[in-house]
Amino acid sequence: GVPEHGYAWYRFRFSLSPAARTRPLAFTCSQIRDVDEAFLDGMRVGGTGAFPPAYDKGTLQARLYELPATITSAAGPHVLAIRVYNAGPRGGGLTAAPYLDSLSGAFWRRTMFEAPLALVAAAIFSLGLFALFVFLRDRRQREFLLFFLLTAGVAAYFVSWLSLWSRLGVSLSFIFRADVALAFALSMLFALFFHHFFVLTLPKWMRFVLALQFAGMLIACVLPRVDDLYRVLPLCYATVIASGIRVVAVLVRKVRRRAPYAVTVLVGFGFIFVATLREMAQDFGLIPSGGRTEYMGAAFLVFSVLFLSVVADRMARLRVAAATDPLTGLPNRTGLFDRIALELARSRRSNRAVALAVLDLDRFKDFNDRFGHLVGDRLLIAMGERLSESVRATDLAVRFGGEEFVLLLPEISRDEAVRCCERIREAVEHMRVSGAEGGTTVSIGLAVHEPGSGPTPSAGALLRVADAALYRAKAQGRDRVSVAEGPIPVDLLRPASGESVPSGAL
Ligand code: GH3
Ligand code: MG
Ligand code: MG
Repeated sequence: GVPEHGYAWYRFRFSLSPAARTRPLAFTCSQIRDVDEAFLDGMRVGGTGAFPPAYDKGTLQARLYELPATITSAAGPHVLAIRVYNAGPRGGGLTAAPYLDSLSGAFWRRTMFEAPLALVAAAIFSLGLFALFVFLRDRRQREFLLFFLLTAGVAAYFVSWLSLWSRLGVSLSFIFRADVALAFALSMLFALFFHHFFVLTLPKWMRFVLALQFAGMLIACVLPRVDDLYRVLPLCYATVIASGIRVVAVLVRKVRRRAPYAVTVLVGFGFIFVATLREMAQDFGLIPSGGRTEYMGAAFLVFSVLFLSVVADRMARLRVAAATDPLTGLPNRTGLFDRIALELARSRRSNRAVALAVLDLDRFKDFNDRFGHLVGDRLLIAMGERLSESVRATDLAVRFGGEEFVLLLPEISRDEAVRCCERIREAVEHMRVSGAEGGTTVSIGLAVHEPGSGPTPSAGALLRVADAALYRAKAQGRDRVSVAEGPIPVDLLRPASGESVPSGAL
């Protein structure tokens, strides 16, 4: 029996094969504080030899103890006696029998035992790196930075459990201290990340929980005796559970309201929460501990994958939504300038003209006043449909704003462009929507760049010339197509002489 606090002796019987005898020997212990003394067949073979109050070796990590080379064991039965000191909440020193093996065999056994955890940590960190790159490309997306910090912290937490560190001579006390501080920090980070992602404000009591966790993290860093860290563990567990309950409550509410992504995030978080509760139950000895922590790692990996699938979907949707006019379904002016510039550059190579038409519904304000805004909207929708039907796949029809539309017609001749605009003008004249007895007309300003006629203009210049033509169409009585004559000035600073450029929407 092992007391909650204090020393305990363990005795294990082994049988060594004749082959193992000639190789250096080692034994591996997991889930212990540390080995004070170890005896093989009554001879001291290892341990720290330090006892309370000087004792400061708090750890739950597995460790490999190499036996001195002077030990030459005979084949057959042996007794390994191990004395450990236990101050922690796990109800016992050794929770698994140590292995007595050749040194290389013991290394190999540890490596195989730890490999899954190392792989999971690497996978989590890679996903975090991806999020970091997304953040570096667009610094406004702060949830990606938080996600990266979270994955880096989680990966560090898991990597700290590898026996590699004790082999490299890193103090186990330091690792244990870092683990406890990380447990506080990761729970805080997760809460911040979660609230940021769903654009939630932290309720007062959650701020209090976070403040407690921050204090716990500081205490873990400065407590002089590592053994005393066990005293702050209940605070850690209590705040982690409180924080987890908050996350689950918010997500369940969101699932009820059918909020987007809530189910996916809830499932992902469920894995983490259950794995965390399982870990805590092990620490309190409520369920037996096998010394494995991959469940936590695997749960966090599942969460990370689900979360990244959610943000990938959200980004794709936002990108489409940002470039689409919700009323007409036409693209909006986002990217219009780039597209015009691209077609102008292409026209220089293909030697074919590019036409740009600006369309503005006539007296649309009156139409709205007569039939109402909703009927006006219907006319805009009909106009959008008409435009997308009348253009080729390579053309671009855009709702520029209000009742103004822009049509970009690459690889076209001046005459063809005029005919296209005339067809649209006539179609609009006959366009009717329910709720309105009459319709309206459209004025169109057309600018055509013909590569032979002069240097390639800027996109802004082409748009301004078309706008000026529209202005003339309105001035001449509306319901007509006005075509800008002559070459397009190269840029905005030098408008063609004699042409009045209105200060329009540009
Ligand atoms: P003009 O012939 O000189 O172009 O006269 P207009 O009334 O069309 O021009 P103005 O720019 O004065 O008014 C544009 C109107 O377009 C004003 C606004 O009520 C209407 N409008 C803009 N966007 C929308 C929309 O999304 N829906 C509706 N129903 N009307 C809109
Ligand atoms: Mg207008
Ligand atoms: Mg108008």
